[in-house]
Amino acid sequence: MQLPIDFTGLGHVNTYALEDRRGVAIVDPGLPGKKSWESLEDRLSRAGIPLGRVHTVIITHSHPDHFGGAGLLAEMTGAAIVASHQFRTWWDPDEDWNERELEPADPSRTHLPGGTTSAEPLAHAIVGRTHTPDGKKVPPSPFGRPTPWGGKTEELPPERRAELERNLEEALRWFRVPCPSIRLRDNDPITLAEREWFGLYTPGHTNDHLCLFDPTEGVLLAGDHVLPTITPHISGMIEGDPLARYVESLDRIASFSGVKTVLPAHGQPFGDLPRRVEEIKRHHELRLARLAEISDSLGWATVQELSQQLFAPRAWGSMAESETYAHLEHERLRGRAERREVEGRLEYRITG
Ligand SMILES: [Zn+2]
Ligand SMILES: [Zn+2]
Repeated sequence: MQLPIDFTGLGHVNTYALEDRRGVAIVDPGLPGKKSWESLEDRLSRAGIPLGRVHTVIITHSHPDHFGGAGLLAEMTGAAIVASHQFRTWWDPDEDWNERELEPADPSRTHLPGGTTSAEPLAHAIVGRTHTPDGKKVPPSPFGRPTPWGGKTEELPPERRAELERNLEEALRWFRVPCPSIRLRDNDPITLAEREWFGLYTPGHTNDHLCLFDPTEGVLLAGDHVLPTITPHISGMIEGDPLARYVESLDRIASFSGVKTVLPAHGQPFGDLPRRVEEIKRHHELRLARLAEISDSLGWATVQELSQQLFAPRAWGSMAESETYAHLEHERLRGRAERREVEGRLEYRITG
């Protein structure tokens, strides 16, 4: 089932239904909000799936086009929510955000009570408040947050903020914070659609990316880990060397024998996984080479300056900077780049 999404130029997210005698598991049920929810209801009804049959909601990773509808769907149906053991979003619904800095979820806690929580504090955070009207503290806003390379992520444009404030109540009605009840670790088995699948922890696109693999039928539910026509974004927000971790996760899935069908979250299902993996790896090699050329001409430069040479103007912003940073850190950790800090911003020079 394809649900429309109106950002990142992707146009849609693929929502899959895995059917068994008990009902269905729904994978990645789209964005938060009324529009996406109505599309989900429409697609389910056209597929002949009453809401009451949904017993599980699977979230491949913590991007809003994948988890946005999950909380409400689970609340409406009583479904379990399955995600990676590292699943977390910019807030942490289980914790008190007064004191805590965000850190990786505790991997020892794989089974939590689960369920959903109200999105109200998050809505206040998004529109830039520090407290709810009745005085409760809210988590830090995802907009205008400091980045590891210095500077900040984009602010919410004033007109979007005003619109959100006007429609806060409406937005809240269509979103619940998903709290996974089952957190799969790497290689954990799970039965869905009368088949045995294995959870594959595949960091790189996000730190909490989960693929599911059915080795008997050779089906890989790939989320955004491998996409047929675009290269998944590499997140610079992952500790260490995100590009190396991504390539490692790619090589691993390419090494599985008998993958017949890859079900991506965007674009059409496809077959030749090793070929697609090679293309994506080649893309990153070319990008690293291009980055070295840019660095040669700029000398010491900030992540933002380098990203604006590497990406077309329409892509400029914190996502472009995040991937550029991932590439630069990859080169630095291989001894091919130098880094220094100037007035709170990192600067790089590629030497290799
Ligand atoms: Zn994603
Ligand atoms: Zn996606």
